[in-house]
Amino acid sequence: GMGIAIFTSGGDSQGMNAAVRAAVRMGLYVGARMYFIREGYQGMVDGGDNIVEAEWSSVSGIIHKGGTVIGSARCKDFRERAGRLKAAKNLVERGITNLVVIGGDGSLTGANCFRQEWSSLLAELASTGQISADDQQKYAHLNIVGMVGSIDNDFCGTDMTIGTDSALHRIIEACDAISATAYSHQRCFIMEVMGRHCGYLALVAALASEASWVLLPEEPPPAGWQTTMCDKLRMASSAPRCGRPDHRQAAEQTTALPCHCTGGLFIYLPLVAAECVEADYVFIPEWPVVNWEKKLVVKLHAASVVVDNLGFDTRVTVLGHVQRGGSPSAFDRILGCRMGAEAVLALIEATPDTEASVISLDGNQAVRVPLMACVKKTQAVAKAMEDKNWQLAVELRGRS
Ligand code: ADP
Repeated sequence: GMGIAIFTSGGDSQGMNAAVRAAVRMGLYVGARMYFIREGYQGMVDGGDNIVEAEWSSVSGIIHKGGTVIGSARCKDFRERAGRLKAAKNLVERGITNLVVIGGDGSLTGANCFRQEWSSLLAELASTGQISADDQQKYAHLNIVGMVGSIDNDFCGTDMTIGTDSALHRIIEACDAISATAYSHQRCFIMEVMGRHCGYLALVAALASEASWVLLPEEPPPAGWQTTMCDKLRMASSAPRCGRPDHRQAAEQTTALPCHCTGGLFIYLPLVAAECVEADYVFIPEWPVVNWEKKLVVKLHAASVVVDNLGFDTRVTVLGHVQRGGSPSAFDRILGCRMGAEAVLALIEATPDTEASVISLDGNQAVRVPLMACVKKTQAVAKAMEDKNWQLAVELRGRS
């Protein structure tokens, strides 16, 4: 049967294991030889024990685990032709001519480069005696298919990426936990979530946890946002929701007088990601941020606006990598299953002339869409965000 290898690359996300499991089992079911490549492209370049044949039972008991059991990595070697040459040799030696890559746009771009370069890599391996002329012929074409694992939901062409739903669960669990202390201590909490250029996590988490205010990268607040925000927070805090008669009375008497059982005011700043320091700038245009230290200032700025104007006891909570942890939600497990199975079917039906595809979620269906078109659109969105052309970014991103 055909040789198919699966690997995870770039940042991990919950649900990757479900995708690995489904791909391996669908491959075995249709009679393919299935391989894991450990540690992403690094394992492909290094070969040896990093490339192992998978059996039906190799993927048992992994669907509930977070992260990726086959490991993920970033790999400098694969960016160079010399690295890709080694990788090609390792694959040919095992009769692997099909790759399932689960990663972000970088990983998918790498796979596409590899595919385009494949025949020239094999020619070099044959001419230097590293593979036989027979093998060069036999393994002349490399097929690839992609799936996107990312908690940010920042990939164009799919309704959801693998991991986003689980990250949302982590965030709203944290919000629920914090709202209890917020109400008990009449505090205002500012929550910072992940998302890089994409405000999806922030927006949906804000809706799902009754946030009073949200800052999104796609919609930088206009000058004077502080006043609007404080007005909103004042309104939210004066709503008679604590149930204590004395407080209700105070709140009804004047909306300007905050009830003291008011906590639970959230502001989300999706601005973590050290790799995307520029993103901070979009939240507070008056405060250009060019380096990491100043980032802290931005956070304190949002908090100090609340403290100075409203006198609320205010704390900043940064959720960080907690969002990428924990077990995958049912949605992400099913999403991984659907996509993993479809990915293998895409490889089986691929011909040397077909365009590489990425598996996307369209409504409730796992479907194939052109890989490079989606990667290019995703990169164009990132560029538009960097250029501070929010409208273009939102238009390009479209449905996803
Ligand atoms: P992500 O896949 O999450 O976007 P990266 O951009 O870090 O993450 O890419 C992951 C890995 O994919 C890189 O470490 C590198 O090995 C490989 N890669 C990315 N871009 C390319 C490229 N243009 N050519 C070859 N390999 C690439």
